[in-house]
Amino acid sequence: MTAAGFVKKYLAGIGLLICLMVLSVFWGFYFRQAELIEKQQLYQGQAFFQEVVLMRQWMAQHNGVYVKMTPGVTPNPYLLEVPGLRVVIRDEQGEQYTLKNPALATREISELAEKSGLFQFRITSLNPLNPANAPDAFEQEALHLFEKGVKEFTTLERRDEEVFFRYMAPLVTEKTCLSCHAQQGYREGEVRGGISVTSSATETAGKIRESRIFLVGSAFLIILLILIIIYLVARTFIKDLQTAEAKLVSMATRDFLTGLLNRREIYRRMEEELQRANRNSTPFSLFLLDLDHFKRVNDIHGHSAGDLVLQETAAAMQRTVRPYDLCGRYGGEEFLVALPGTDLSEATEAAERIRLAIAALQIRLDECKTLQITASIGVAALEPDETIDQLVARADEAMYQGKQQGRNQVNVAAAAPSQPDKEEFGL
Ligand code: GH3
Ligand code: MG
Ligand code: MG
Repeated sequence: MTAAGFVKKYLAGIGLLICLMVLSVFWGFYFRQAELIEKQQLYQGQAFFQEVVLMRQWMAQHNGVYVKMTPGVTPNPYLLEVPGLRVVIRDEQGEQYTLKNPALATREISELAEKSGLFQFRITSLNPLNPANAPDAFEQEALHLFEKGVKEFTTLERRDEEVFFRYMAPLVTEKTCLSCHAQQGYREGEVRGGISVTSSATETAGKIRESRIFLVGSAFLIILLILIIIYLVARTFIKDLQTAEAKLVSMATRDFLTGLLNRREIYRRMEEELQRANRNSTPFSLFLLDLDHFKRVNDIHGHSAGDLVLQETAAAMQRTVRPYDLCGRYGGEEFLVALPGTDLSEATEAAERIRLAIAALQIRLDECKTLQITASIGVAALEPDETIDQLVARADEAMYQGKQQGRNQVNVAAAAPSQPDKEEFGL
C-alpha cells in the first residue's frame, strides 16, 4: 500500500471514530432532553395528584362539608342512598345545606379545572358508585396495575392533533372513606380507586420535536464540518506525501547533478528491456558516450564549469533521443543511452545526431566566455544470448577505439566473439 493509501485509511478511521463520538454525544442529548421534559411532566402530575389527595383528606377528616343549597346546588342522589348520612341540614334561620363528600368535591373541582382549561382530573375505580365515574381504557389499565402493587402510571395520549399527558396514582381506602363505601365491601388500606390527572402536552411535544430537529440538524452539520476538515487535511497531507514520495523515488533512481537515470536504475531498466527484446525478438541497442578531454575543462575553468558542461550535455542528449529511450549517467563524464526496438544502424544514426548536438553546444560560462565540448561514442546492438554487461563492454571498447582514433566520433562495436558451438564439445 502507498503512503497516501495509509493516510487515507487512517484518516478515514479517525473520521469514523470522531463521527461516532459526536453521534453518541448528540444521541445522549437527544434522549436526556426528552427524559427531562417527561420527568417535569411527571412531577407536575404528581403535584396535581397530591393536591387533590390533601383536599380529599381534609374533607374526609371533617366527614365531608356542607354547602349552602343555592340555585343549582342539589343533594347528591348517591349520598341519599347511604344509610345514616345526613345529606341535607338546616340552620337556625332555616337555610338549607347539603353534604359534599370528597368524591363529589373532587368531581366538581375537576369540572371547574376543565372549564378553566388548566387540566383535568377525576377519581375513578373499577367499581364506581356513580356510573359516570367509570374508568376509561388508560384508567382501567392503571387500576389493574395498582392492584398488582404498581405505585403510579403515565402515558402520552394522542387525540386528533392534541397530545395529552396522563398520570394516575392509586387512592388507598382510609377509615373515613368507609362511611360512604363500606356498603361496596371496601376495607381500610385497600386500593379501590385512583385519581387520574390529564394535562395538555401538545406544546411540550412540539418543543421536544423542535429540539430534536435542532439536535439532529446540529449533529449533521458538525459531522459534515468534521468530514470536510478531514478531507481537506487529508488532501493536503496526501499531496505533500506524494511530493515527498516522488522526491524519494527520484533521489533513488536519478542522478542528482544531471537529472538522468543513475547507473543502478539504467541497469535495472536495461535488464527489463533485454528480457522484452529476447521475448519479442526485437532489436535492442545502446551506446556509451564519454566527453573528450573533460579533465581539462575542470583544470582550466574550474569544477563548477565542469558540472555545467555535464548538465548541458545531459540536456542535449535528452532533447535528441526519443521519449522511450533511456538516458543515464554511467560514470563521471560518461553517459549511457539505451535504445529499445532499435537496430545497430538506427542506433549509429542516433549516436551521430547526439555527437553533432553536443559539438554544436555553446556552453556559456559567463558574459564573455563560452565553451565547446565533443564526445566519443561507442555503439553496440544486442546479439543472441548476450548479457547487458557484455553489450556495455563491447560499446566501451568501441568508444575507446574512437578515443585512440582522435576523439569526437562514433564507433561501432565489433561483433561479439562467437559462442563455442555446443557440437564442438560433443554436447
Ligand atoms: P578523455 O578524452 O580521454 O576521456 O579525457 P578525459 O579528460 O575526459 O578523461 P578522464 O577520464 O581522465 O577525465 C574524467 C574527469 O571527469 C576526471 C574527473 O575529475 C572529472 N569528473 C568526474 N565526475 C565529475 C563531476 O561530477 N563533475 C566534474 N566537474 N568533473 C567530474
Ligand atoms: Mg571517462
Ligand atoms: Mg573523457
